[in-house]
Amino acid sequence: MVSRVIPVEPFDLVIFGGTGDLARRKILPGLYRRFVDGQMPAEARIIAAARSENTDAAFRDTVRAAISEFVTPEKQDATCIAAFLERLSYVRVDATGSDGWQTLADKMRKDVIRAYYFSVGPGLFGDLARRLHRHGIAGTRCRIVVEKPFGHDLESARDLNVTLAEHFDEQQIYRIDHYLGKETVQNLMAVRFGNMLFEPLWNARNVDHIQITVAETVGVGGRGGYYDKAGAMRDMVQNHMMQLLCLIAMEPPYAFEPDAVRDEKLKVIRALDHVEPEQIVRGQYLSDEDGPGYLEDVENPDSRTESFIAMKLNVSNWRWKGTPFYIRTGKRLRARTSEIAIVFKDPPHSIFGDQESHKSNVLVIRLQPNEGINLKVTIKEPGPGGMRLIEVPLDMSFKEALGPGADDIPDAYERLIMDVIRGNQTLFMRGDEVEAAWGWADPVIAGWEEGGDRPIPYDAGSSGPEDALMLMHRDGRRWREVKA
Ligand code: NAD
Repeated sequence: MVSRVIPVEPFDLVIFGGTGDLARRKILPGLYRRFVDGQMPAEARIIAAARSENTDAAFRDTVRAAISEFVTPEKQDATCIAAFLERLSYVRVDATGSDGWQTLADKMRKDVIRAYYFSVGPGLFGDLARRLHRHGIAGTRCRIVVEKPFGHDLESARDLNVTLAEHFDEQQIYRIDHYLGKETVQNLMAVRFGNMLFEPLWNARNVDHIQITVAETVGVGGRGGYYDKAGAMRDMVQNHMMQLLCLIAMEPPYAFEPDAVRDEKLKVIRALDHVEPEQIVRGQYLSDEDGPGYLEDVENPDSRTESFIAMKLNVSNWRWKGTPFYIRTGKRLRARTSEIAIVFKDPPHSIFGDQESHKSNVLVIRLQPNEGINLKVTIKEPGPGGMRLIEVPLDMSFKEALGPGADDIPDAYERLIMDVIRGNQTLFMRGDEVEAAWGWADPVIAGWEEGGDRPIPYDAGSSGPEDALMLMHRDGRRWREVKA
């Protein structure tokens, strides 16, 4: 695979929370990979800003360790690492006070793009926005990158949008949803709008239903405090899964441009029906030999927060009326896998008689592991013995199709950060989109809260509560297996 890397303009990137977990695991190793690939111009600089006392040298040592842990060995080159670390510096800054801001302001150059990555807890987003202005280091050429969670409900998301809008134009605000940076997610748009094959079939006349699964094998781990206030609905559905659903369901945008794409996604969210409690199954994982159960993990024996959710959604518009979207996500499940399956209807009439082997065509878009696209088609079983039909996959694993180099697909974070520098908001959420998603999620959450519903316990290592299977069975459908 030939990689075409176009260097971006010179920039100063400030990572607030530059010593945190996300910066260490994703942002800084990702930036290093972009550097190795030649995408970072010589004048690019990265400044970590965080609360603790630290020196440039000590900070660079932690980044060196992060590179050795999170970057593949082939990309680890001592000369490259040294050259990359030279661009890094550290400033102690208090997001809630005045400490460090002048030092940071003195470091910022005027003639380059300024990007501020808010990789801190959401309670600090407003503080940072205000102080960037107060200290005169915002300006029209700057951008801010805002991490998730963007609000806890519609009201808090609106408040945050208002606070950010006091200091920045919408064109300067990059609300990150790293699912949108995944290669296959963008491929979903390429498959839909770059081929003649699929789009004519992409509607309720031809599609029986759609399944979206995001399964994790890990529990809530050390994030119990945060997670128990959020749950799968707020942590996964309102943002990541909603974005996936939008990309599947949206109308063709007039161009692959930020507002064209985001306008179409917004229309999908607005077309989503309210979900009644009987179309929702929520669960909590039980303990097993590999770890404690959800209630122990969050240290809250009375918790009613879900670590698993399955729902049946309806998009009420001309294209999708009558084709349900089943979505499910959960922790401590059988396998770590994310996929979207478009299950087509059966042919209207079988010329081969009543063959059991008539399987529906299924287009599967695998997000992880082994990103790729797979289309199941029916063919004749080779050999004598009459017309027996079998189902075979037309499989396109990126690794196989694109050969060596396919492993080199940039991680979602590094791609998105480079888009920030390029000033391309296509893969970021607009303020109204986030509010619309909360506007849909709030009443659904209120529905189960008012009903006093308790999540159903499920076995760790399973595919979730039995009731989730029933959600499909009663419609005469089946979930695809949760398997790696
Ligand atoms: P973390 O707790 O590991 O790090 C927080 C960082 O913020 C530290 O560098 C700390 O020094 C800094 N900080 C805290 N208070 C500060 C203050 N008053 N002034 C200046 N700096 C301060 O958090 P994290 O896991 O890196 O997450 C950061 C953000 O990214 C959060 O909004 C989180 O929800 C989001 N996020 C994290 C992950 C992940 O995998 N860690 C994934 C998705 C989103």
